[in-house]
Amino acid sequence: MKDSCPICRGIGWVCERHPDRPYDDEAGCACGYGAPCRCNDCVPPDTSRLSALLEASLLCSASTGTC
Ligand SMILES: [Zn+2]
Ligand SMILES: [Zn+2]
Repeated sequence: MKDSCPICRGIGWVCERHPDRPYDDEAGCACGYGAPCRCNDCVPPDTSRLSALLEASLLCSASTGTC
């Protein structure tokens, strides 16, 4: 993972609806679910940099598809 990704700013995640923005309420956009950035395409994606709240929504989305 790169620390200076121009898309996600090193977060490793982008907004699912706005894949050119970091998945972050303040620095980017978190209007929907998160999606792994192109710099974070390992399986499973690295969630270590996400807040617990965002990670929880991601895990919910990934496990059920509906929340
Ligand atoms: Zn990135
Ligand atoms: Zn968005």
